[in-house]
Amino acid sequence: MKVKLTVSIDEAKKRVTKQLERGKTISKFPITSVQDLETVESRRSEWYEQTKNLLEEIDENSTLVKDFHYLTPSAQSGTRTLQDRVDDFRFDMKKDVKNLQSISDRLELIADLKPKSKRRKDKKRGLTPGEKTWVWENKSHRCYICHKMVKRFSEAHFDHTKAHTKKGKTTPANSGITHILCNQLKGKKSLREIQRHLGTEPKKKRIIKKSKRKKKKISKNFQNPI
Ligand SMILES: [Zn+2]
Repeated sequence: MKVKLTVSIDEAKKRVTKQLERGKTISKFPITSVQDLETVESRRSEWYEQTKNLLEEIDENSTLVKDFHYLTPSAQSGTRTLQDRVDDFRFDMKKDVKNLQSISDRLELIADLKPKSKRRKDKKRGLTPGEKTWVWENKSHRCYICHKMVKRFSEAHFDHTKAHTKKGKTTPANSGITHILCNQLKGKKSLREIQRHLGTEPKKKRIIKKSKRKKKKISKNFQNPI
């Protein structure tokens, strides 16, 4: 069974339950006159239309909708007694509510069957020689740790641009070139930590920091006049 809902299962369950409660209320409506019957029948048509639309809206594959059939309203009003017509109404309504109940049950089932989202782990940790060659030929040779050029293929380490521990994939696209030594120094440190250690932080950030420090000193001096 291929099931694809356009809204979350919880949301779908909430909406279907709401319609189910409304249907049950309509089916219990007391009918003592033709007018009552007409009122309740028009409410039922409305309810049916809304429910059908709702099911179509939440169910992309019509997995749920196909079992929800409208039983044609008892139109043969001619010589039939009010009681006959009321019985027909109750019978039809009961069937529709039962169908909706089965849809609601199915949503419960779908929620149970749906596999808990398990991320497929990327076990591959290193690039193949062919992939390394591709990265060497297509990506910048500037080591992103120390900002100096990696001159030779033999000096190059191919590192995850987005860390493997942060779900970065082992692909040529997610690989950058660093010096083997820089990478060894980096170890498990973050890029910022190793750059601080090597004094190779991006220049812009340093300028901002210095100017902030200066401003603080000035404002302190102004606040404490002797
Ligand atoms: Zn480097």
